[in-house]
Amino acid sequence: MQKIYFDHAATTAMHPQVVEAMLPYFTENFGNPSSIYEIARKNKQALDESRDKIAKLLGADPKEIYFTSGGTESDNWAIKGIAEAYKNKGNHIITSAIEHHAVLHTCEYLESQGYEVTYLPVNEYGQVDPQDVLKAIKDTTILITIMYANNEIGTIQPIEEIGKIAREKGIVFHTDAVQAVGHIPIDVKKANVDLLSLSGHKFHGPKGVGVLYIRKGVKIKPLLHGGAQERGRRGGTENVAGIVGLAKALELALENMEENNKKMTELRDYIIKEVTSRIDHVKLNGHPTDRLPNNINFTFDFIEGESLLLLLDMKGIYASSGSACTSGSLDPSHVLLAIGLPHEKAHGSLRITLGDENTKEEADYFLEVLPSIVQRLRDMSPLYEAYKKEQNL
Ligand SMILES: *Cc1c(COP(=O)(O)O)cnc(C)c1O
Repeated sequence: MQKIYFDHAATTAMHPQVVEAMLPYFTENFGNPSSIYEIARKNKQALDESRDKIAKLLGADPKEIYFTSGGTESDNWAIKGIAEAYKNKGNHIITSAIEHHAVLHTCEYLESQGYEVTYLPVNEYGQVDPQDVLKAIKDTTILITIMYANNEIGTIQPIEEIGKIAREKGIVFHTDAVQAVGHIPIDVKKANVDLLSLSGHKFHGPKGVGVLYIRKGVKIKPLLHGGAQERGRRGGTENVAGIVGLAKALELALENMEENNKKMTELRDYIIKEVTSRIDHVKLNGHPTDRLPNNINFTFDFIEGESLLLLLDMKGIYASSGSACTSGSLDPSHVLLAIGLPHEKAHGSLRITLGDENTKEEADYFLEVLPSIVQRLRDMSPLYEAYKKEQNL
């Protein structure tokens, strides 16, 4: 049976060139970059080169790039580190209702520590209105954190505009760009952001390594206290192999971005068009155009997304309903609820996230098996039964 991986927002396979770039740093180049002898100096150099490369690709200065253990740490650090550094100025944080849990749960934690958090609503497409950000700002606001692109429905936020408002008001602006970096063009200066989180494993890099961009002049407290690594702001011996891999993966992603995005957008739009024409009672979630090139999110009425995933799995198709972090929990996705879906519809969602290696043949196989799976689940659904009765079908 063929295996079709349609879950690239959860994670991606490492690019072979990334693995190759990393390998020497597990074996012969094992030195601690903080030591002074030759093999260590070589590692320090690899670290510096990776930092330079990443800075250049994001439009940043190398001194503004800080390595972390991934998206979750970058988000935690940005939010807790700013909250603490600016606590004499105020205790109010603005975020959105559709953030990743790495942001939402961090904000909830800070609420328990006496901070006040405003969770902005989004419209039916999952977009934050910059005017709502402006209206939510108070004298005590110290941080605005709004994600660049959503991991479930793929909606891209008006980050530049929000950043402009934050800058005019003198408030620090962080964005969780984990789903955006390596997928759409990003320049930290153009985006008007002060802090930006990214993670290697979402663009064919290694897991467990990420970056927090911190603009020069922004005050931040460390999250991890320890040695003098990362200019004294993040202790811990650097994950040299991971960092080299992340830099290589970002370089490759941006080199091939235009071509890959053209291909994925075509495949995405083909699947959307075919699914909505071959199956009744299905809706595309997220924005029709301001969306990631690889994201598709459907709601199928009358069925459970979890059952749909199991039957797709039996056909060798790997997808997701909501985010991978919430699978295992039966709560409907907070993102789908925030765009206005009622609970029962939020349960019937399917997320397909494409990668550059997916083909039209794979899409056609998916389109061939999906309608009968959906029909089979609907035939077992009491909700569908009730609907048919109501419609005299
Ligand atoms: C995956 C993801 C994270 C978490 O990143 P990790 O590197 O897995 O910790 C944070 N935010 C978003 C939007 C994500 O998609």
